[in-house]
Amino acid sequence: MDTGADDAKRRDEADPLASVRDRFSIPEGELYMDGNSLGVHSSDAERALSNAVEEWKELGIRGWTDADPDWFHYGERLGDRLAPLVGADEAEVVVGNSTTVNIHALFSTFYDGGEVVVNELDFPTDHYAIRAQMRRLGLDPDDHLVVVESRDGRTIEEEDVIDALTPETSILFMPSVLYRSGQLLDLKRLTDAAHARGALAGFDLAHSVGAVPHRLSEWGVDFAVWCSYKYLNAGPGAVAGLYVNERHFGTEPGLAGWWGHDKETQFEMETTFTPAANAGAWQIGTVPVFSAAPLLGSLEPFEEVGIDPVREKSLSLTDFLIEIVDELPEYRVGTPRDPERRGGHVAVEHEEAYRIGEALKERGVVVDFRPPNVVRVCPAPLYVGFHDVWRVGEHLREIVETREYESLDRRGGGVT
Ligand SMILES: *Cc1c(COP(=O)(O)O)cnc(C)c1O
Repeated sequence: MDTGADDAKRRDEADPLASVRDRFSIPEGELYMDGNSLGVHSSDAERALSNAVEEWKELGIRGWTDADPDWFHYGERLGDRLAPLVGADEAEVVVGNSTTVNIHALFSTFYDGGEVVVNELDFPTDHYAIRAQMRRLGLDPDDHLVVVESRDGRTIEEEDVIDALTPETSILFMPSVLYRSGQLLDLKRLTDAAHARGALAGFDLAHSVGAVPHRLSEWGVDFAVWCSYKYLNAGPGAVAGLYVNERHFGTEPGLAGWWGHDKETQFEMETTFTPAANAGAWQIGTVPVFSAAPLLGSLEPFEEVGIDPVREKSLSLTDFLIEIVDELPEYRVGTPRDPERRGGHVAVEHEEAYRIGEALKERGVVVDFRPPNVVRVCPAPLYVGFHDVWRVGEHLREIVETREYESLDRRGGGVT
């Protein structure tokens, strides 16, 4: 047998996280490398969802008070559970809405005109939302959105972000991990720099929560958003999360709604809005219990294992994958090699990335393509092993050796 395969098997045997894998459902015959886009089903998530359905059946409206956790405080209780993953106090975290809506909720609160510093490699929804918030204030987004450029098309230098900050900057808003290249930014350094210019620092953690530890409170980050259906495995369209630093508690939310009202007096039904004295104030409407319930279960493996071992395994897996790709013909690695600058996935670059991605899918390797030339490969540490990664390497090798992608159609539209 190939020494690489032996080595991979030895690593799997020594892996302290190997036992949690059985709780996840990998579609039959697939190598699932897309956990940064949609995490897989787990028995924990299903049990929690079934439990919520059962509570609805048995309790009816009494579920708001008698379910466990009670639906009335569902957002807050899930916030308590998420707080360790983002390094915040329990009161600073809540779930609600979607990531995009939470960007709107936080910008409508904290953006007061001035410049917003973002980067050209951002996930598009962030720019759509911020530009819309600028137009709401009667501002021209082209004059107020400062877009930091990439030097190499893959990564963003923190130095360039810091240089873009001026006394006109109102908010620095960046991703923790870039969705395409997988670069991890230094959030503490960026937060310090924003504060030194009198600006706020907000982050989109969609590609780091559940893969990378954070210390949002300690770093003094002002606000953050993330989704629960990627590394957190809470299912398609699961409820999103947000963090607001306690120094901002009491600020009037821009998108006020009764679910953000002080819970003690919410049902007095006053028409005057009294925001909750914590991050709960940024909820808007009723918590979507069935898209939140799976998260109660899917957080369990993280709580049992701890985020630091998850990160450690994630880095070993991506190191291993990078080593393998380096040995292959034609492919390039577009992800930073320095572990401190790397999130949980690897960007494998090739001019034919789209058709290679399609060929991988035909072989049962679930990855995604991101234009113009990236196949994203994500070995999610809770349910992917080293031998899986080795097999992905073999598929990549065979696909270029056989040129089998040449028989596939070039890129059309649709979800990739
Ligand atoms: C996945 C992702 C989103 C998704 O936003 P939704 O509102 O959940 O659709 C937003 N931002 C980033 C950076 C993402 O990676």
